[in-house]
Amino acid sequence: MHHFQVKKGELYAEGVPVSQLAATYGTPLYVYSAATISDHFDRLTHALAPLDHLICYALKANSNLAVLNLLAQRGSGFDLVSGGELTRVQRAGGDATKCSFAGVGKTRAEIEQALAANVYVFNVESIAELEFIDRIAGEKKLRAPVAIRVNPNVDASTHSKITTGTYENKFGIAFEEIGALYARAARLKNLRLLGVQMHIGSQITEVKPFVKAIKKMLPLVQDLKTRHHIEFFDIGGGLGIVYDPALASGQSAWWNQQKTPPLTPATYAASVVPLLQPLGLRILVEPGRFMVGNAGILVTEVLYVKKTGQKTFVIVDAAMNDLIRPAFYESYHEIVPLKQKRSGGKLVSSDLVGPICESGDYFCKDRPLPAQKPGDRLALLSAGAYGFVMASNYNTRPRAAEVLVEGAKHRVVRERETVDDLLRGESV
Ligand SMILES: *Cc1c(COP(=O)(O)O)cnc(C)c1O
Repeated sequence: MHHFQVKKGELYAEGVPVSQLAATYGTPLYVYSAATISDHFDRLTHALAPLDHLICYALKANSNLAVLNLLAQRGSGFDLVSGGELTRVQRAGGDATKCSFAGVGKTRAEIEQALAANVYVFNVESIAELEFIDRIAGEKKLRAPVAIRVNPNVDASTHSKITTGTYENKFGIAFEEIGALYARAARLKNLRLLGVQMHIGSQITEVKPFVKAIKKMLPLVQDLKTRHHIEFFDIGGGLGIVYDPALASGQSAWWNQQKTPPLTPATYAASVVPLLQPLGLRILVEPGRFMVGNAGILVTEVLYVKKTGQKTFVIVDAAMNDLIRPAFYESYHEIVPLKQKRSGGKLVSSDLVGPICESGDYFCKDRPLPAQKPGDRLALLSAGAYGFVMASNYNTRPRAAEVLVEGAKHRVVRERETVDDLLRGESV
């Protein structure tokens, strides 16, 4: 579900023609739909209502302050992976006491910052980290709330770079070692064993891997509740979204907006809630992509069209530094012209590429697209998650501006960088 729609041949973000945004703010440009983000939060909240639950939005997916503020206003918690992200949550008006702090490499400074901010829990990924947090908490005369991240060794059937819950990955602690580890942690005086956590991967588009992992975890979680009086079970994030509506609906029309997501909050909840309810524990979920993925687009302008032999290269002003997902994960983004051509016109097999000096700098290969000419503008859909947050300044390219649309209103929520911004701090 999202609020980007083609009306009378023109792409709209909620009530605003995207071409108007491109003309006002320039390209490349990230555009976010506030209603889409709010909708996603509300749908998930509704679906999980039978459980005592807390949604901890994984802000590594999109950490713009305005996005965080939207979610904070709806009562969302946050899943953080760095001290910087904690600062963002606080600046955005989020509640640190609803934050889980994840990640395999927390530094002393980050642990101290999180203790001072009174985060809800540290999700711990190794024995060494557990002992380190205990020591720091002891120095501060505090008891640190911790949960151990379990690696349930369940294959999430997703891309290898976003699978996290098998023993091939660096994440979590092996399922078989957890009982003994909690017993050992219980003897560390400066810790409180608050819960248990897992996260099996990202862009999971069917409910089966979640069900399998939860079922595997249930006896362990029950046992931890009995022995250590834990108060929550955190089932992680990973809910997938629709990137390619043709795959989801069996239709190939790029303008077909009414897609059926393979995994909705309702279908997800229908499978997981009955499993979790009997535990009588608080349930945490950490969705990132689900909340923001379809809520953002990247708008770009065609610079040149270059035909070589069999190929048509459409060279645009956005590049892999703006959106690295195709280069990094071979991921698919739907590409939609901001204005449909009147003539209808035939589709041309095209490679959409950026100006960066890397062969990996492409957004699609051999994809049938309407014929393009310089000055035409296109939108890459579903770019709201792992888009801007992974942007870099490679090739000394300033990062794109970010705009938030709310109904008929729009505003810049991050200014376009300048070259001077990039050079700040450097010297000859
Ligand atoms: C990345 C991550 C998430 C969010 O994953 P999505 O696929 O974006 O929902 C949640 N929890 C942890 C621990 C993560 O590393």
